[in-house]
Formats: sequence, structure tokens, C-alpha cells
Amino acid sequence: MRYISTRGQAPSLSFEEAMMTGLARDGGLYVPETVPTMTADEIAALAGKSYEEIAFAVMKPFIADTFTDEEFRELIAKAYGSFGHIARAPLVQLAPNHFLLELFHGPTLAFKDFAMQIIGQMMQAALARSGKRITIVGATSGDTGSAAIEAFRGLDNVDVFIMYPHGRVSEVQRRQMTTSVEDNVHALAVEGDFDDCQSKLKDMFNDFDFRDEVHLAGVNSINWGRVLAQVVYYFSSAVSVGAPHRKVSFTVPTGNFGDIFAGFIAKQMGLPIDRLVIATNQNDILHRCMESNDYAKKGVKPSISPSMDIEVSSNFERALFWAHDKDGAAVSSLMDELKNSGSFRISDNAMAALCENYDSGKADEETTSITIASTLTESGELLCPHSAVGVHVGYAHQRHNPEVPMITLATAHPAKFPDAVENASGIRPPLPPRMADLYERSERVTQVPNDLAALQAIIRERRAR
Ligand SMILES: *Cc1c(COP(=O)(O)O)cnc(C)c1O
Repeated sequence: MRYISTRGQAPSLSFEEAMMTGLARDGGLYVPETVPTMTADEIAALAGKSYEEIAFAVMKPFIADTFTDEEFRELIAKAYGSFGHIARAPLVQLAPNHFLLELFHGPTLAFKDFAMQIIGQMMQAALARSGKRITIVGATSGDTGSAAIEAFRGLDNVDVFIMYPHGRVSEVQRRQMTTSVEDNVHALAVEGDFDDCQSKLKDMFNDFDFRDEVHLAGVNSINWGRVLAQVVYYFSSAVSVGAPHRKVSFTVPTGNFGDIFAGFIAKQMGLPIDRLVIATNQNDILHRCMESNDYAKKGVKPSISPSMDIEVSSNFERALFWAHDKDGAAVSSLMDELKNSGSFRISDNAMAALCENYDSGKADEETTSITIASTLTESGELLCPHSAVGVHVGYAHQRHNPEVPMITLATAHPAKFPDAVENASGIRPPLPPRMADLYERSERVTQVPNDLAALQAIIRERRAR
């Protein structure tokens, strides 16, 4: 099993190398050279299995011999043992033929835990074998950072530094990043916005001396290991509503396109997915792209679903790679166009290929709030704003295809965004009992100027050797 770059110029890598590398050296993203498939019988056999067993069956062909079967089962058990729900990704019914996939029962209450917990375990196991030590640096608008800290805290061989924009994350998100007691965790509040954090991260990866000196590694959403882990819940949920004996559609609240792209991989593997519906908030570049081939940056407007406030949707590059018949040169030239002019136009053939798999829709701010309130009234389910964007778009799509079951992904727990949820519904969602003391724990964080040299100095000084 080899992994190749979406821009066609970087060397192919093993699973372990691709997971440890993150971004390819030609600027592209790693994807499997060929996607392994499962037969209808193999998919049918997943019904009734535990989440952990399904995770093993779905991921094993991609990791090949990186771990023995026994090792891999153990890593999966450790990764999902800390979840607050025995089903890990339970499915609840919202309406006739419309289901909600609750992906917020992990330790930091967002779907990012599904991927981060298992790549934390896999990286640790690989490092223990090689005796190497790495420094993970991440930039976050909130959810990725807390999930990474939760996954890597206390692990040997890893230091984790998370940069978040000072004063611009929710209190729950901040406390999840600043209240862990382990010495290998370092929360950095950067005096800037999310784009500043992300550009400092890029600068660090491009400073090759620094990169080699601290053994820099990344866990942002372009990491192939993260996409792979997200494929699992498409299988577990689809078999619960009748796959492979009938088709299923999914609606996915989307920002960086990692979560929905995992659905595309599930389809390539043989899961009978009818439509993958992209749901965006008012930052609707992906919806405009699907509707009118208008992928043009207009500036991000902050919303009540902040984890989807994104314009350069990094994993969309992987979708474009398939839509261009895996032509790395074509993807590379689109990305150059975006960099130089802030927009690109997709060829008719590639656009038709995208439309074969994906639909799209959007929810503005008011619609999002109304959906939180109406869903609570109709089904008793309290949604976070991201999930509400999905539910609105899922319903709209289902009106055209009422006979195909629709599964909408709920990406975060409402208690992670209590202000927006309370404004919409009148109810302030409480934290689950297992983390009810979050507001009492003491915080540990370093405020840092938005300056590359200052950030690098802190990382050099704090990391263990
Ligand atoms: C990260 C995130 C998203 C967007 O996921 P992508 O994989 O970037 O498309 C949506 N909702 C929540 C709550 C998130 O944390």
C-alpha cells in the first residue's frame, strides 16, 4: 500500500511515512495509490459489530503491515475507550428517513476526537519502535487543538504545542486546551487571528533547519491518518440503516473538506452512498463552486459555527485530484491559479465528475438558529450550530429524494457552543457529567506575540530532549 501526492511530484510513501509527514514536499496531499474495496458480503457482515471491530475491518487494508493485527486492535481499543458512549458514534432518528450521527461523545466533544485519538496512538506506537522523539505543532480555531492535546497529553516521545488566537475561541474550547496538567502539553495564545496562527505554522514547516532540529510533525486535517479514521463511521452508520442492501446519503457540515472526503473514500471502497451533500454556513465558497463553478475568495465572515469559517478548504484538493482522473499536473495548476488570483475555474469534465458524487447547500446565520429551535421542538434533539447547518441542508436535499435514507453528521456537542445554542433555543446546554469540573480546573497558557522567532524560541526552550 503506497501513498502518492495530489501534485504528482513528491516520492510515494508508506502509510507510516505519510502519517508522520503530513504535507508532501511538492505542496500536495497524500492519497492512497489505489483504494482497497470491500464486497457487499463483507460490508453486510459489519452489521451488529462494535465500532472498534468495524474500525479494524475498514482501516486495516490501508495501514497494511504498519502494525500487526494484535497491535492494531489494541491501539483502536485505547483510542475509543475514553468515549462517553458505548456505541462511540450513535445514530438517532430526527424524522422519517432522516437520521443524525452523533460524533460528539469523544473527550473534547467534537468529531475531531475520532481521528485524533487513533493517530495519537498510532504515532506513539511508531515512535516507541523507532526510539524517535517528535514535536507536534498545530494551529487551531478551537476544536482541532483541544482534540490534539487530549490525544497526545502524557504520551512519551511527543511534545505538543498548540497555537490558538488569543481571545477568539469559546471558553469551553480554551479551557480544554489550557487545563491539562501534563508537562508535554503547551498551549500558546497567539496575539493574532486564526490565519496568523496558520501562517506561522506554515513558516515553521518551511524553515527546514528548525523543522529538522525539533523533528516537527503536523496533525492538521490534511494528515491522511485523520481522513482514514473518519471513513469508519460512514460504514458503521450506513449498515445500521440498511446498507449494503440499500443506498444511503450523507449530509456533512463542511469547512476543510476532511470529513466529507472520508465519505468519498467510503464510497470508493464500495459502500453504496447515493449523494454526499456539502453543507456550508455563510462562508459558502464550496457551495458556490458546486452551483456555479465559482471558487473565489471573498473574505471570511465570522459566524456562530466558527469551525466552518474557512475559505481555503485544504482537503478539497483531494476531491479535485479524483475529479481530474488523478492528474497531479492539473491539480497543481489549479492551486497555482488560486494562489495567484484568489480563485479558479474547474474544467467541464472535472465539474461533471464532482457532481456525480457531491451536492451542496448552505444555511445563513438566521436559518441556523431557527433550525436549532425547530429541531428541539420536533425531535427533542439540541444541536450545535455546525450540526444545525447540516440538518437544514439535509432536510432540503431530502425533499428531492425522500426514499433514500439521509444521515446528517452532528459534528460537535451543543455544550461546546453554549452562547449560540442558548440564543437560538433558550436552553443553556450543560457539559456532560464527566467533564462538569472544566470551569474549576486551573489554566496554564503562555501568551505569545504574533512573531515567528518568538514562537520558535518558546518551542526550542520548552520541548524535552
Ligand atoms: C472541524 C469541524 C467542522 C469541519 O470539518 P472539516 O473536516 O474541516 O470539513 C465542522 N464542525 C465542527 C464542529 C468542527 O470542529
